[in-house]
Amino acid sequence: MPNLNAAHLWTNIKNYSRSFARSTIDQGTHVSENGTMSQWLRRINIPANSSTMTLQSRPMAGGNWNNVVPAASITQPQLQALVNFINNNAYDDEQHRMVLTNGIWRTFYNVAQRALVYVDHNGAPAAAPAVLPDTVPCYDCNLVHTLANISIDHQRPIGGNPYEAICKVFRCLGLTRGSVTGPKGLHFQALHMATVGGVASVSVTRNDKYTLNAQGEIYYSLFFELDMVHDLAIACMNHVINLRPLCSSCNRPNRNTTHYPNWDQ
Ligand SMILES: [Zn+2]
Repeated sequence: MPNLNAAHLWTNIKNYSRSFARSTIDQGTHVSENGTMSQWLRRINIPANSSTMTLQSRPMAGGNWNNVVPAASITQPQLQALVNFINNNAYDDEQHRMVLTNGIWRTFYNVAQRALVYVDHNGAPAAAPAVLPDTVPCYDCNLVHTLANISIDHQRPIGGNPYEAICKVFRCLGLTRGSVTGPKGLHFQALHMATVGGVASVSVTRNDKYTLNAQGEIYYSLFFELDMVHDLAIACMNHVINLRPLCSSCNRPNRNTTHYPNWDQ
């Protein structure tokens, strides 16, 4: 399982202030401040004797740093909530079928024991198993399958632009400029956005959905500073938010195309 706890531990209270460059995802593309610290125009600051991260800016290199307006900060409990939400609901690359055991996912996709029709070689009704099997409907065609026979679709495609998967998970938490629109996003937003300090938005344009807001920038900057963006991307690609049940007929190859080029390849 991906483990992002190092990010939480890193922000523990120190008796000196710390700053690191602001990084973000803008329209599906990674962006960082230029050059050395003296050239930054945006940064994340943690004051001495605090664990709260605040986004700051200055008018030009060498000017005074000020909090952005409106102010944007992330507390350590909010960071812990985000780390827990990702750690507890994400899987390694080859382990994403483990989502079939995830309680949140099972509830959302209506996993339940259901009676199925069994027929023998002569076409006559055959005995069903004594215990009804766990089943799940295909998200597209609604046909019910046993869990063993359903395939798991990566909504932002595996091997595609990793920043799209990060934005998809962050969007459900109110950390992008664009709003969630689908039922799953709205479901998770209602449960988790407030706990991570996310902010609801109204835009539904694609570019805003794949651009982080100020709160999202703070989180993303921390993961980039700690060289954890790769771990974050793997976790988001294989997160409950990005996985849905599709039958093998509906889950065709190349069904999900990337919205933006994968600049890492
Ligand atoms: Zn289907």
